[in-house]
Amino acid sequence: MRLINLRGIKAPKIKATTGTDITPLRPVEFYNVPLKLKNVSESEPVVRVGDSVKQGTLIAKPVGNFGLNIYSPVSGKILNIFSKMNAGGEYCKHILVMNDNKDEVEDLPQIDSISDVTLISRLRDAGIIDTVSQMPSYLKYAYVGARSYKTLIVLMDSTDPNNSINQTLAEYKMEEVVNGAKYFMNITNAQFITFVFTENNYKLAAKLKKHIAESKKRYDFKIKFIPNKYPFDNPYILASLVCKKKINKNLSFLDAGITIENAETCYNFCRAVEFNKPVTNKVVTVDGDNVTRKGNYFVPNGASYQNILEFVGVEDIKAPSRLIDGSIMSGNAQFNEDISISFMTNTILVLKFDELTDSKEYPCISCGKCSSVCPVFLNPQAIERTYLSEEIEDFNRLRGHSCIDCGCCSYVCPARRHLSQRISAGKFYFKKDKGEK
Ligand code: SF4
Ligand code: SF4
Repeated sequence: MRLINLRGIKAPKIKATTGTDITPLRPVEFYNVPLKLKNVSESEPVVRVGDSVKQGTLIAKPVGNFGLNIYSPVSGKILNIFSKMNAGGEYCKHILVMNDNKDEVEDLPQIDSISDVTLISRLRDAGIIDTVSQMPSYLKYAYVGARSYKTLIVLMDSTDPNNSINQTLAEYKMEEVVNGAKYFMNITNAQFITFVFTENNYKLAAKLKKHIAESKKRYDFKIKFIPNKYPFDNPYILASLVCKKKINKNLSFLDAGITIENAETCYNFCRAVEFNKPVTNKVVTVDGDNVTRKGNYFVPNGASYQNILEFVGVEDIKAPSRLIDGSIMSGNAQFNEDISISFMTNTILVLKFDELTDSKEYPCISCGKCSSVCPVFLNPQAIERTYLSEEIEDFNRLRGHSCIDCGCCSYVCPARRHLSQRISAGKFYFKKDKGEK
């Protein structure tokens, strides 16, 4: 069902993947852990073939200061270190770990204070990814001065039509999420936390209020609601809705003093601080009309799409289906089930082919739907034209670089134009400053 409103796309009130706690994936024999995530530089192995590891043993660390610590998802043996394609389509080193099913665990050392310096180190040491900015979480605080942030927003929900990770963590792991948010408050200059929910989740917000009122750790917080429209949880739109600040090339999040976290990062932060747990798995929403058990799963780092599908079940194995990593709005179709999921994977969709329609494009019929849904008020049809005809100046004049890659325009286009994909390519190829393709 497509519910189109003035800007953005109305998300379903109740998602198919809500209402149950997160299920751990059944253990498998092999985990192929990718050492490179999109936007993050490749980490270097610190183990060798034949080494024994425990769940939580450091197996790769950053080269320089901008990468990610990566930990073994299970106890076992390092079988191989080799190059393979990751979920972002790039070749990178993977570490193959064979599970010995002994479930031996190695924790991070205990920290002796919760000072801002110690907490930022813990973000780095635990290998926590900020799934809002898709960067290692510590980078946002360590190098730019955490005290510059006066506004701390914590997303407790998502406007994505399928993804329900934050909402599920907020519902079933509220204590950890709230405590993690408090640790973020400790490292910033925020006087209170602004928890953000979509307008569907009044009950969950009320539960949070009660939880904080009853907890011994009292602190100031506010609750804000945003419309249940995709992509209103995008950081740029959120800053505008919640703080009335327009983030653009003249005003960065840092300049505006706004930092945005979500329930998942808070959950991981709390576990790293209170239980000394590095990040070894990712919460993934699995949805789609060809999935038997839709829901949210704890997926160990290095598990493949195939491992996930075998566990959740595919309803009609013979039906031609498409596997999508990411949301229905902007995810990427995958052509190989033997790819490991990454810490950037939020949603996996298995959709019967007929639900997706064919991908044949037709000429634009000038219906205006693409402009009517664009949340940043662009004219996608006109921008697409400038990309196809390589009119760089017009691409810039029409603010092609302001596109936030939400995919709303492509989703509603009756002619199935590949609008967001082309605009995204235009942003990459048309180097605005150099004025060259
Ligand atoms: S032009 Fe960009 S921001 Fe606008 S709807 Fe399309 S993908 Fe979203
Ligand atoms: S939605 Fe598609 S058909 Fe309609 S104006 Fe935009 S590009 Fe053209």
